[in-house]
Amino acid sequence: MTFAATILTLYPEMFPGPLGVSLAGRALAEGRWSCEAVNIRDSATDKHRSVDDTPAGGGAGMVLRADVVAAALDAAADGRPVVALTPRGAPLTQARVRSLASGPGVTLLCGRFEGFDERLFDARAIEQVSIGDYVLSGGEMGALALLDACIRLLPGVMGATSSGVDESFETGLLEYPHYTRPAEWEGRAIPEVLRSGDHARIAAWRKQQAETDTRLRRPDLWERHEGARVQSPSGAQAKKDDR
Ligand code: SAH
Repeated sequence: MTFAATILTLYPEMFPGPLGVSLAGRALAEGRWSCEAVNIRDSATDKHRSVDDTPAGGGAGMVLRADVVAAALDAAADGRPVVALTPRGAPLTQARVRSLASGPGVTLLCGRFEGFDERLFDARAIEQVSIGDYVLSGGEMGALALLDACIRLLPGVMGATSSGVDESFETGLLEYPHYTRPAEWEGRAIPEVLRSGDHARIAAWRKQQAETDTRLRRPDLWERHEGARVQSPSGAQAKKDDR
C-alpha cells in the first residue's frame, strides 16, 4: 500500500525537496509513498488571488484566511488524517509518527505569516501538531520533518527491519551511544565492553547507558518512563501503549 502525502502550502516547489533523495527518495521512486503538493493559492477566489488578510484586533503580520484554506482542504479531503503544522499544536511524538505511518497517509496543512484563522480548527477536523518549541517561518519544514519520520517506518524502506525498534523514543528512552572503528581515535578507545563479544554484558551496558543518558539529558522523558513503570510493574505492554 502506498502512503499518500498531500501537502497544502503556498510553496509547493518545496516538495518533495530533501525527501527526493536518499532513503525517502528511493522509497518515492519505488512507489512506497506518494507526494502531492497543492498550492493553497489555487483556492483563492478574488482577482488578486489573496490568501491572507490583516489580523482582527490589530497587530503585526497577516493571517491565512479560513475560507481559502478550507476550500483547499475540502478539495483534497479523502478521509486521511489532516494535520496542521503550528507551534500551538501538540508536540509531535514517535508514537504519533508510528500511527500515521501505519495508516493510508496524511494531508498536511502548512501555515505562513502569523498562522491560520482559528475558525478553521472549529469548522474542520484538523489535528494541530508542533515540531518543537521554536518558531519556523512556515509549516513546510515541519511537514518535511513529519513525513521523513513517517517514511522511514514504511515497510521495506529501512534496510534492517530491526533498526526501528531499538531507537530513541521507541522505548520511552533515548537510545544508547554508538561507536565504530577505528578502535582508538585521538587517544580515545571504544568502551571495552563493546569489544568483549559478550552479548549479555553489551545489552546490559546499553540499557544502563540509555537510562543514565535519558535521566540526565531528558528528565521529562525519564519521569514519564519511570511513571509508566510504577503504574504497571508487570507490563512492557502498558509502557508501550503509553509512548
Ligand atoms: N504567530 C505564530 C507563528 C507563525 S509561524 C505563533 O506565534 O504561534 C508561521 C507558520 O510556521 C505557522 O503557521 C506554522 O505552520 C509554521 N510553524 C512555525 N513554528 C512551528 C512549529 N514549531 N511547529 C510546526 N509548525 C510551525
